[in-house]
Amino acid sequence: MKTAILNKGKETKYLNGYPLIEEADIFQQGALQSGDIFHLKTAQGAYVATGYVGFQHKGIGWVLSYDETTEIDEAFFESLLMSARQERDYYYHIDGTNAFRLFNGEGDGIGGLTIDNYNNHLLIQWYSEGIYTFRNDILAAIMKVFDYTSIYEKMRFKDSDIDGGFVTGEAPEFPIVIEENFTFYNVHLDDGPMTGIFLDQKEVRKKIRDYYSSERRVLNLFSYTGAFSVIAAHEATQTTSVDLANRSRPMTEENFGLNAIDPKTQALFVMDTFDYFKYAQRHNLTYDTIVIDPPSFARNKKKTFSVTKDYDKLIEGALPLLNAKGTLVLSTNHSMYPLKAFKKMIKETLSELGMAYRIDEVMGLPKDFKTHPHYKPSKYLKVVFVTLLD
Ligand code: SAH
Repeated sequence: MKTAILNKGKETKYLNGYPLIEEADIFQQGALQSGDIFHLKTAQGAYVATGYVGFQHKGIGWVLSYDETTEIDEAFFESLLMSARQERDYYYHIDGTNAFRLFNGEGDGIGGLTIDNYNNHLLIQWYSEGIYTFRNDILAAIMKVFDYTSIYEKMRFKDSDIDGGFVTGEAPEFPIVIEENFTFYNVHLDDGPMTGIFLDQKEVRKKIRDYYSSERRVLNLFSYTGAFSVIAAHEATQTTSVDLANRSRPMTEENFGLNAIDPKTQALFVMDTFDYFKYAQRHNLTYDTIVIDPPSFARNKKKTFSVTKDYDKLIEGALPLLNAKGTLVLSTNHSMYPLKAFKKMIKETLSELGMAYRIDEVMGLPKDFKTHPHYKPSKYLKVVFVTLLD
């Protein structure tokens, strides 16, 4: 068995359950390669944990077990998948939703692996070459544990010369249609890194429909396929979607169509968000709810945008368009932007502008995106609802 020896004193962190084995904590390692199983040991040589090598973030791999006798084989993966499935029992039995996450990386015991269910079509995502070396065992386990019509996979690591795509089952024609909270969305499992819908926002979408749409004009910035607009449009006076990418237009229109909403009744701009701020001000357009869900990094016309540095500019740009008593829905999925810092930025930005406001809600990941109690970055999603006071 290969080993990695920890720096003196570093064992406490891992004995307390930290799942990512960080390069900086390792004193000595015996030529570890992607996909190797190894024992993590103290400087004195005592066993701490069993891990696999898969390079991700600052880690050389992830802990899989705290029992020296555990074999990492198909049966091992099967038992973790089975527990994950049992924990999703609720999602298998609710009405109006047929898409959710089945297995969420380290939260379910295997960092680097996620599995999503899109109306019985499964999508496996491999986040390192290391986890991909277990593909055969993991696939066999998935096929035993989960029901499915088809299985697809995506490589989420750089330098992969392996293409993802269809794995097994009955290949559907894309887009397939999924249902979430009684709303329909198109999904592609075989077209670039994104699928058309971010399943981690399902409760935020529902919250917006139930509490922040009725009789409101809703602006959705960085709208992508319009998921927030479509669910809001059930209740809203009108929705406006803004995204830089040309493809956002047909994808958004199709999602409206799936829900029997005529896209012509809704506004859609293929435009940079900051340009839209100016456009809307020139045309005196105002809103009651503004959803801001940007990518963590983006580049447009030589300008770069980074959520950790520039989120305040989005709030400053949006406020002139927000009606009295209006709500900002401020979202970020940046794992290295902690909730505390995000809230501080929001409060400082609003206070500097002299706004009186109330924080209505702070939302995070839904239950199917199970997080790891000792690994903070796994709680990457933060959504803060701020309502202006008179
Ligand atoms: N809010 C979306 C997901 C956003 S994904 C949802 O809930 O589904 C990020 C989107 O931001 C992409 O569609 C991308 O085209 C868009 N984008 C990136 N930079 C932008 C900019 N400067 N202005 C407008 N849209 C931008």
